[in-house]
Amino acid sequence: MTTRLYLAFDVNAKSHVLPAEECHYLLRVLRLKEGDAINIYNECAGEWEARLCTVTKMGCTVELTTQLREPCAEPLTRLVYAPLKHDAMAFLFEKATELGVTHLQPMTSDFSQKYALHEDKILRQLKQASQQCERLSVPVLLPVVRFDEVMREDTGAFGSVHIALERAEAPSFSAALSLLASTTPCTFVIGPEGGFSGREVDLAKSVPSVHVVSLGRTILRAETAAIVGMGAISMWRAI
Ligand code: SAH
Repeated sequence: MTTRLYLAFDVNAKSHVLPAEECHYLLRVLRLKEGDAINIYNECAGEWEARLCTVTKMGCTVELTTQLREPCAEPLTRLVYAPLKHDAMAFLFEKATELGVTHLQPMTSDFSQKYALHEDKILRQLKQASQQCERLSVPVLLPVVRFDEVMREDTGAFGSVHIALERAEAPSFSAALSLLASTTPCTFVIGPEGGFSGREVDLAKSVPSVHVVSLGRTILRAETAAIVGMGAISMWRAI
């Protein structure tokens, strides 16, 4: 499989100096040599084949050879989640990237737990997942938001808000999405391990622009709920 690196680069520049971390990975871990090909990509430049042209102890540079993919617009898809335990979080970041989430936003709520957010580590996990799944972008990590703010925000920026509530008499998420054009910006909100409080459920149900949705009859763990919801969005986007 071709090595893909997500990098900022200028398509008009003759050669590109790779960051130290990437050089180390290509030269020491993969043991690539001068002349070997890799792919480099980002959401603005698309994906390019590039050849390692200078390799020294100090680092390496690449030259672009052929454009393999044009950049393409991604409909805005935001997942708002209450932070979970470390392993569940790593799993969720990987799956969110694979399933096309463009924005991830941690949320505090009445029953959310206080887990530390290691932003650098999260960004590394997102980048790795993007490189592996052939996406042209990496999800953006937005600042922590409070549940009440999400319920009260203007729907303009992040599209219609769908909140997953267990045991609610609500349409399935897939049914709700099927009423919208598949390029519509969309926000999907899932609760913490302990679920939403009664007050939060009442607030969600009282806001006309917020859609309450079901993910089925069983009670899912938060990370399962996130994956089921993101999977529904991913398939709806593919229509
Ligand atoms: N501890 C709670 C469940 C919380 S599940 C209880 O036992 O009642 C964590 C989150 O996953 C919930 O806040 C909700 O957003 C989502 N979720 C889980 N199962 C769901 C379902 N069947 N339908 C919709 N949302 C669900």
